[in-house]
Amino acid sequence: MPGDTIEVVQKCSVCGTEVGRLSIKKENLFLSSYVMVACPKCGRETQELREPALRTEMREKEMASLPKNNR
Ligand SMILES: [Zn+2]
Repeated sequence: MPGDTIEVVQKCSVCGTEVGRLSIKKENLFLSSYVMVACPKCGRETQELREPALRTEMREKEMASLPKNNR
């Protein structure tokens, strides 16, 4: 099933700038976490920081679509 991948935000671990996004498999989320990314703000390669993008987006959608008198 294609639903096993999640969207991950690649961030610069130095300044926190979003460098890019990628879809990876859930089981690979915490593997190979020492990847270097080219940060445009720092102007050099820094260690990447990965954050699941779906988590916050889903929460926002849930809150936006949650009926007030439900639950
Ligand atoms: Zn940076």
